[in-house]
Amino acid sequence: MKHFKEERTLVVIKPDGVQRTLIGEIIKRYERAGFKMVGIKMLVPTEDFIEQHYTLDPNWKKTTGEKTIASYIKKGMEPPIKDPIEQANFIVNGLKKYLSSGPVIAMVWQGSHVVQIARKITGGTEPLTSDVGSIRGDFVVDSYQMSDKDGRAVRNLIHASGSPEEAENEIKHWFKESELTKYRLVQDEILYDVNLDGILE
Ligand code: ADP
Ligand code: MG
Repeated sequence: MKHFKEERTLVVIKPDGVQRTLIGEIIKRYERAGFKMVGIKMLVPTEDFIEQHYTLDPNWKKTTGEKTIASYIKKGMEPPIKDPIEQANFIVNGLKKYLSSGPVIAMVWQGSHVVQIARKITGGTEPLTSDVGSIRGDFVVDSYQMSDKDGRAVRNLIHASGSPEEAENEIKHWFKESELTKYRLVQDEILYDVNLDGILE
């Protein structure tokens, strides 16, 4: 069995994050939490590459469509599209335009519970309701109402994998194994060493 500290996640700074010169600010948030960057690159993804990314998980369309519909209902509003798959197809079209519009930064981060903690640091999908203190909550103004009215994807700066399985599939989609580096960080000792017996001389 893999050690907890070998868990990895994919984080992508979307074109709006690069354009708003938030690369350093965003990287800092994951780095200071204790995670180790094991891969990074800048690229302009194609629309096909983005469509493949969002269809790696066969359930993604259903859950994302349902999440949007539930959010409208929670706000006491009528969802503009009532079928989850139809809603998700609309979202994918917007995402293809959004994510191929300019350079993105793709990164792989490693550490215990990195998938779940990176999602917490990133914040909820819709910036209107993302927690203050999360990246999306601190730096973006956008909502499903705004994006749906304009027929575009919600601009929320970042992609972060939703589960460890999703992460492994997405990492394979974005990186070759040779682009990921295995190395030790000095701080790994403090985070993961059981005895803390290497500090005193
Ligand atoms: P997350 O990125 O938080 O994992 P999802 O996987 O559900 O969210 O959706 C992927 C991306 O699609 C979101 O980050 C956002 O950019 C966009 N998106 C999701 N729902 C909508 C929606 N209802 N309208 C427009 N764009 C959306
Ligand atoms: Mg997702």
